[in-house]
Amino acid sequence: MAKMKAVQVSKANGAFELVERDIPTPPANWVRIKVEACGMCHSDAMVRAGVLPGMTFPRIPGHELAGRVDAVGAGVNSWREGDRVGVGWHGGNCFECEACRRGDYLACEKGRITGVTHDGGYAEYVIVPKESVARIPDGLDAASAGPLLCAGITTYNALRHSGARAGDLVAVMGIGGLGHLGVQFAAKMGFRTVAISSGSDKEAFARELGAHEYIDTAKTPAAEGLQKLGGAHVVLATAPHSASIAAAVGGLRARGKLVLVAAPHEPLTINPFQLLSGRTIAGWPSGSSIDSEDTMRFSALTGVAPRIEKFPLEKAEDAYARMLSNKVRFRAVLVP
Ligand SMILES: [Zn+2]
Ligand SMILES: [Zn+2]
Repeated sequence: MAKMKAVQVSKANGAFELVERDIPTPPANWVRIKVEACGMCHSDAMVRAGVLPGMTFPRIPGHELAGRVDAVGAGVNSWREGDRVGVGWHGGNCFECEACRRGDYLACEKGRITGVTHDGGYAEYVIVPKESVARIPDGLDAASAGPLLCAGITTYNALRHSGARAGDLVAVMGIGGLGHLGVQFAAKMGFRTVAISSGSDKEAFARELGAHEYIDTAKTPAAEGLQKLGGAHVVLATAPHSASIAAAVGGLRARGKLVLVAAPHEPLTINPFQLLSGRTIAGWPSGSSIDSEDTMRFSALTGVAPRIEKFPLEKAEDAYARMLSNKVRFRAVLVP
């Protein structure tokens, strides 16, 4: 049987190991993709730790994968060999449970997660359920498409469903893997875009990404800075720091909305009085494969692109360490 290179985790809290595996054959309704790039995400730390439900070892992580369809199983009619495709976090759904029957595939009771419930994209080849596959538009290269399939779709989808309208004041907290895409999306969607970060060193970069305003929380608390600008309609929290997220609630205008796409471990401490003006706090869960397609099409149309650093599969462990110490600017992408 033909072999491939892959990076796997073989036990809880184990390292990323480069291994040789059989190239998998796609069963009915699955598609095989020759991987050209796969982004590395902070959620991959949960795969390493083995804390996600439904996960077994060994597991090949990777839910920001982009490449070309290489083979299809029986019953696959919409994908052909050679199609440029990508797959994100949402790894498939059953079409039969109540949530699926209502069209809410992300809430599927048997929902699959790429690189968690089945092997992901840290490999030369991967097989995935056909419903998890998204088409990559012309003009978008695989290494850019990868991060758009998790960091991108999450911020794009959260913003477009936030209720904000053109011209509204929208703040993006944190300028990392998610935030640097969030700022670009917010600006391209026509919002008056505020980037919020600690320190002055990221201001020039934030403005280059399209931010109209910048709040340096080392000098001005986020709430005060936002109220000076009139109060935010939406604050998108992309960095996992509960204290700074909670501190931004006071920067929302009445009926403004705080949308979380980051998952801090500590509880959020909010003064309930701050919510009585109709402010809301909500989370947003990435999206389905058609949302991935929308994200990539919008990005190709408007020139939104992740800033990436490429690493070969052999360097997965180095890339991971650089990501955890915030040295990657701004998304690590493995290129087999
Ligand atoms: Zn992710
Ligand atoms: Zn279902």
